[in-house]
Amino acid sequence: MNILVVEDEVKVLTFIKKGLEEQLHNVSVAYDGRVGCKMALENEYDLIILDVVLPLVNGIEVCKEVRRFKPDIPILMLSALDTLSDKVQGLEEGADDYLTKPFHFEELLARIKAITRRRDMALPGTVLQVADLVMDCHRKVVKRNDSLILLSAKEFSLLEVLMANRDRVLSRVFIAERVWGISFDRGTNLIDVYINYLRAKIDKGFDKQLIHTVVGMGYVIKD
Ligand code: CA
Repeated sequence: MNILVVEDEVKVLTFIKKGLEEQLHNVSVAYDGRVGCKMALENEYDLIILDVVLPLVNGIEVCKEVRRFKPDIPILMLSALDTLSDKVQGLEEGADDYLTKPFHFEELLARIKAITRRRDMALPGTVLQVADLVMDCHRKVVKRNDSLILLSAKEFSLLEVLMANRDRVLSRVFIAERVWGISFDRGTNLIDVYINYLRAKIDKGFDKQLIHTVVGMGYVIKD
């Protein structure tokens, strides 16, 4: 794979670059957010590894900008910050996953595998449907009753997982692993927050509610 690593800490950058090159990946590097963003937009990469705290432009802004033009490129964010709000912000801006420093190289490799596997899952041209809700997974378009619904990258992924498993009750852990590639600590309400975002866009104003809460179990989408 062609991988871009944007990280200003030379030690961390060297560690990642060396490890990935041993795995026979081509690694390009940038030391600040401005150069990183420019490289990400001008070149074709299979994956971007992006630190949050960067000189000139921070990683969250870079992620947001890259997502605007390249909605499909896998982005893994790195940060020493380990609070839920940082995670949510990074993921909300379209990162596929989030890894907290310091980490073992094996963990980084596992995350990369998980991200690329998830990316491979979406089959081109797949259309999912539940009642009058229709998702074109390839074109990334969602419509209900023929009206276009605009979703963020994560809302789209969450809905995709629900719709691909229609009628099946999904646990929060299952959803967290599929959509964010991580197991959240018990007690965090990230999934519930995102389900509420989705409900506001998918179900609000319609007689028939499609997203259902199964108390103590999780969520299901059904007709
Ligand atoms: Ca940094």
